[in-house]
Amino acid sequence: MENVCKGRVIINAEDFRDINPGDRILMGPGPSDVHARTLQAMAAPCIGHLDPYFLAIMNEAQQLLRHLFQTENQLTIPVSGTGSAGMETCFVNLVEPGDEVAVCVNGVFGTRMADIVQRIGGKLIRIDAEWGTAIDPQALKHAIKDRDPKVIAVVHAETSTGVCQPLEELARITHDAGALFLVDCVTSLAGMPVAIDEMKIDAAYSGTQKCISGPPGLSPLTFSPAAVKALEERKTPVFSWYLDMSMVRDYWGSERKYHHTAPINMIYGLREALRLIAEEGLEERFARHRLNHRALVAGIEAMGLSMLVPESIRLPMLNAVQIPQGVDDLKVRKTLLAHYGIEIGGGLGQFAGKVWRIGLMGQSCRRKNVFLLLAALETVLRAEGYQAKPGALAAATALYDQTC
Ligand SMILES: *Cc1c(COP(=O)(O)O)cnc(C)c1O
Repeated sequence: MENVCKGRVIINAEDFRDINPGDRILMGPGPSDVHARTLQAMAAPCIGHLDPYFLAIMNEAQQLLRHLFQTENQLTIPVSGTGSAGMETCFVNLVEPGDEVAVCVNGVFGTRMADIVQRIGGKLIRIDAEWGTAIDPQALKHAIKDRDPKVIAVVHAETSTGVCQPLEELARITHDAGALFLVDCVTSLAGMPVAIDEMKIDAAYSGTQKCISGPPGLSPLTFSPAAVKALEERKTPVFSWYLDMSMVRDYWGSERKYHHTAPINMIYGLREALRLIAEEGLEERFARHRLNHRALVAGIEAMGLSMLVPESIRLPMLNAVQIPQGVDDLKVRKTLLAHYGIEIGGGLGQFAGKVWRIGLMGQSCRRKNVFLLLAALETVLRAEGYQAKPGALAAATALYDQTC
């Protein structure tokens, strides 16, 4: 296909086909299925990033984001980049070299936060909890007893394990210590309550491809007035030029000062995904996530499989299921994709090969997907020699019936 002749690279354009991935049902840890309306919005003509029509779309996207985050924060924007860019934005803007930062770690994404803090010269205070469990507020309290952290960071929905972190107590400890409360809401936002102002969160970021159900590429972010003040009182410039919110906010604010070219069509897509969320209603959307999660768990347990995380701290949108002994993790996932078009996730880090991560995020979180996944998984497991108990679909049906 590739032919190098005297320093010139020659290709044959006909060798490249149209993009057509075929039918997929995205039930992994993200991306999730994207609504046709969102894809259609992205196909609208690309216009200039200072075009008055686009500026109005930006304002609407911000309004819709404030609704989703339940915040009045002025500085609420989508960062150009995936969820990790939002994570990095929070730390590079709020932390200066030598600042103490407490990071709660109980999975891959807490680990990533701790990594970023160290890369930017923050003094890391690390609070670890066993993967698959939540952070104990007392452990945080103890860890910062004689310290002076500027920021205390935690992951709300740890996608690597399926644990939902209760935030109330951590928020109280953080504010008692005079620190800023930074929360990773990548997987929780749009799938369960994330009320920024009510929960007294100072900085939060998310990602478009989890429960918002947009394509990956933007990271919704919000800073409280206290976080903005910390940014304005910095003694050193923000280390990253691209992610410097003191400049980016002048483009999203009334000045419309050019910083970097906004990803126009991505923002069309985000606005449409957020409009779909507003049409559904936040409470209705959260209830849908809870219901489908409970039906999935009922089916999984009826089959004889076990959930990794105790019920009280289980996330609705990310279901970690223990892989039974002797079952080939990769083979099951490959067969689900090849025969049924269903993508589920494998384990990350210390859970690699030990759990499957079944996502019920946004557009993917539907009753028909719960039934399809349960039926397909049961069939694949039987073919693998695992004697799945019968009755998974009946258990899911009973759950739906009982809650109607
Ligand atoms: C997916 C995820 C991220 C990273 O987002 P990317 O879009 O992959 O960069 C960060 N935190 C959590 C909790 C996530 O689930």
